[in-house]
Amino acid sequence: MSMDKEMQDSFAMFYGMSQSLKGLVEPVDMEDEERVRKAKQVFLNKANRDTAINLEACVRCGLCAEACQFYIASEDPKYTPIAKLDLMKRVYQRELSPFRWLHRIFTPDITIGDLREFQPKVFDECTMCGRCSMICPMGIDIAEMVHTSREAMVEAGLMPSELDYMCREQDGEGTIFGANEELLNFRLNDLKEKHGVEIFVDKPGSDVMMLTSGLDIHLFTDALLGTIRTLDHLKVNWTLCSHAFEAANFGLLAGSDKTQKHITMRIVDAATEMGVKTVLTPECGHTYPAMRWAAAEISGKPLPFEVMTVSEFFGRQVMEGKLKLKKIPGDKVVTLHDPCKVGRHGGVFDEPRAIIKELGLKLNETESNRELNFCCGGGAGNFLVQSAAPVRKLGFQTKMKEVNKTGAEALLVSCGSCRLNFEAGKLNTGDTIQVDSIAALVGENLPD
Ligand code: SF4
Ligand code: SF4
Repeated sequence: MSMDKEMQDSFAMFYGMSQSLKGLVEPVDMEDEERVRKAKQVFLNKANRDTAINLEACVRCGLCAEACQFYIASEDPKYTPIAKLDLMKRVYQRELSPFRWLHRIFTPDITIGDLREFQPKVFDECTMCGRCSMICPMGIDIAEMVHTSREAMVEAGLMPSELDYMCREQDGEGTIFGANEELLNFRLNDLKEKHGVEIFVDKPGSDVMMLTSGLDIHLFTDALLGTIRTLDHLKVNWTLCSHAFEAANFGLLAGSDKTQKHITMRIVDAATEMGVKTVLTPECGHTYPAMRWAAAEISGKPLPFEVMTVSEFFGRQVMEGKLKLKKIPGDKVVTLHDPCKVGRHGGVFDEPRAIIKELGLKLNETESNRELNFCCGGGAGNFLVQSAAPVRKLGFQTKMKEVNKTGAEALLVSCGSCRLNFEAGKLNTGDTIQVDSIAALVGENLPD
């Protein structure tokens, strides 16, 4: 289903709002020496045996550059992934490496100028997609260390103001783009009235706690509706939680430990208190690793529930023969975007493909798919950062080159941020491919 008029209007409004966050919060006031000290402290605190091996292991083969969406589109060496770790490496070499006595003579200490120079390298110019980490023959996890570098920037008060705004909103109000309980209820009642779905909020004894996101509440209501319809159809004993429904975690995206913990524990505590067996994450890519792996680490113990994302949950039902779908007529050819955090990081590949097959659609894969799928270009919160716009365009170019080669009529996605980025990219480039939510397609094609 392409965007109808109502969704197009919502998109224009939402996209405008999402691109107007710059400068809404006061920059962090801090002495330069303090910024440098705090950034170095993060690098030192996070350093462990793996970091040391990663930072020592590079053989300068250059393969990571050839894996990166931004380098591929521009051939500009400034996008070389491993170079993003230079600050971290210098701190490691001077403070921790076996040859630190030598490095203290020849390797310059990091300065405030270095921090400011590297801020765009680890925010605007990297979506932490992990493709370079996948390709590196030495197994260096560049994306993970870029995340550490973001944490260092956050501590130094140098987070891009758009992400700072989002973190402060999540820390303060607990919302994303003002999508609070009142707005959630408004949206749910609207879906109930228009589509006759059954809605459950704070239902005791539920098996599944479903999360949603500000993006779906404001804009991609078809994905929210599709998820609810399908859960109702499958007779899943589900509920939303009125005080822990937001899945997005800008702490994880921006590198703010404090925000990440706060948002994560709100969900973990609510799900634990309700005694659910499963937490179902919506079409929101980064929520998957945030809840599936990082949440247990933050809690300090195994989670008392399993975590699944919606395309994974529905796909498994299809694979087990429990969910039948109507065939979409017309021999429609589609292609699939595997969101980095759900696919490359999470290994959810077969499930969305099972759904596509069940819908009777012909899947033409992009040349790079599954683990090697390209990012949409706007991941890790970069779709909000104004200064990242030219770089996003490069990533989008790399992605769309492969998408267009498939000859598909529609691009299917299971991440709202990717979907937003594709729609925004289309506005800028004139690409016309229809972008569809997998959850929405499932919900629209349930048997009568
Ligand atoms: S691919 Fe790995 S070993 Fe090669 S340059 Fe990049 S980080 Fe170094
Ligand atoms: S955007 Fe992806 S491939 Fe490029 S440096 Fe970042 S993690 Fe690596």
